[in-house]
Amino acid sequence: MLFDDLSLIDPLQRALSEEGYTTPTPIQERSIPHLLKGKDMIGIAQTGTGKTAAFILPILQDMSAVNKGPRPGKPRVLVLAPTRELAAQIGDSFATYGKYTRFKHTVIFGGVSQRPQVKALSKGVDILVATPGRLLDLIDQGHVQLSGVEYFVLDEADRMLDMGFVNDVNRVVAMLPKKRQSLFFSATMSPDIDKLARTMLKSPAHVEV
Ligand code: AMP
Repeated sequence: MLFDDLSLIDPLQRALSEEGYTTPTPIQERSIPHLLKGKDMIGIAQTGTGKTAAFILPILQDMSAVNKGPRPGKPRVLVLAPTRELAAQIGDSFATYGKYTRFKHTVIFGGVSQRPQVKALSKGVDILVATPGRLLDLIDQGHVQLSGVEYFVLDEADRMLDMGFVNDVNRVVAMLPKKRQSLFFSATMSPDIDKLARTMLKSPAHVEV
């Protein structure tokens, strides 16, 4: 299968060809059709499988149907990642795959000054990539509102649990609109992971690579 067979919109096809990517990886080939139909999904995949593009491409494609314009502190997409390194990498991937779309993304994580993050949020954001603690701080201070989230991604769920973020994640999920598309990725499966997934997904497609 080729990316051409996934009927991606031209701005995404162009970005992919510039990266030199012509063939989707197995997780991309199996996830993208479900995600383009609006389904929730649980993906069991390690880093290095291409899982980031597997969620970024269909989200960018679906949200491109409506351009709401970047709103201050009110993203349409929320991606939660356990570490600042992963959050930054996901932000870079939104920049790469989204270079021909008009969406603005911001990355927020702890351990650094809030000020530049607050400033970036106030300028308007479509896509927010965040670690849980800093996200909750900025929500509590009124700099982020989750009422406009249409797409929610929890990445590396197993590491979230290992790092003790389960309560933070649950607090965030409780603030999301009920009507949304949710995607859940983990490198491993366990009863705890399954329980967490069930609290945030509705009739999900299962993809394991
Ligand atoms: P990830 O698993 O999301 O961390 O991606 C691993 C690496 O694979 C990243 O450097 C991506 O840029 C690259 N990649 C993602 N999709 C493809 C693809 N379809 N073809 C070739 N490389 C890819």
